[in-house]
Amino acid sequence: MFETAPPARTTAAQTAPAPRLEIRDLTRVFGGREVVSGVSLKVMPGQVTCLLGPSGCGKSTTLRIIAGVDRQDAGGVYVDGAPISEGALHVPPESRGIGLMFQDFALFPHLDVARNVGFGIKGSKAEIRTRVETLLDKVGMRRHIDRYPHELSGGEQQRVALARALAPSPRILLMDEPFSGLDDRLRDDIRDETLGVLKAEGTAVLLVTHEPAEAMRMADEIALMRDGRVVQHGAPYNIYNAPKDREAAAFFSDIN
Ligand code: ADP
Ligand code: MG
Repeated sequence: MFETAPPARTTAAQTAPAPRLEIRDLTRVFGGREVVSGVSLKVMPGQVTCLLGPSGCGKSTTLRIIAGVDRQDAGGVYVDGAPISEGALHVPPESRGIGLMFQDFALFPHLDVARNVGFGIKGSKAEIRTRVETLLDKVGMRRHIDRYPHELSGGEQQRVALARALAPSPRILLMDEPFSGLDDRLRDDIRDETLGVLKAEGTAVLLVTHEPAEAMRMADEIALMRDGRVVQHGAPYNIYNAPKDREAAAFFSDIN
């Protein structure tokens, strides 16, 4: 799976596209402890960056600050070069153009699939319906448009959740362990399908996971996190083949 060399990358001198999302030196302190400690990373348009690390290393806290539902103690968050969180500046979550797909961010149980997906979209009824149908086509769920969440399997709910997250056409999508509730058999398929949809939409994605296999499968770039810090970042192939230290190597050795 990881034997082929990655395609040659363009050098910074040729073209230096601006990152869609950037965080710089982000720090968050809880109870006197830095749970996020000077984290910097970039997500390019149309690419998936994985924030990968063991449970408790500060991944979700980082994502919550980017989403604007928590505040940093130092550092900043930038979209297309402009600050959205920096010092006293804090753009409210709903004005960030950032979509969320979080583990504990379930579908609304009392709304059918059409209304779940259409929930965050602005426009006329007909426009909303068209967008909803287009998205449900993309995730292969159009035939379930009138169903309720409890009538869907876990994998189907996940597909609807992806459609809902993409409905307002966010420039950036934050995903926090989005596949962790699914059984192994389903997970690879859904990862691949999700990646296909995200690439087609051109969304910049920051995906949080504690599973190296998921990062290897989905990421263009991996930022390996430990104890609140990014300890290594680079292309999946490079990190897998040249882990920075024994701990990083051990973390990747669990891949099946
Ligand atoms: P991860 O998502 O990588 O599992 P988190 O970002 O959720 O890690 O948590 C990082 C650390 O910060 C953990 O030790 C967690 O207990 C702590 N933490 C997270 N949120 C809070 C909070 N609101 N108050 C105090 N401690 C917190
Ligand atoms: Mg977490």
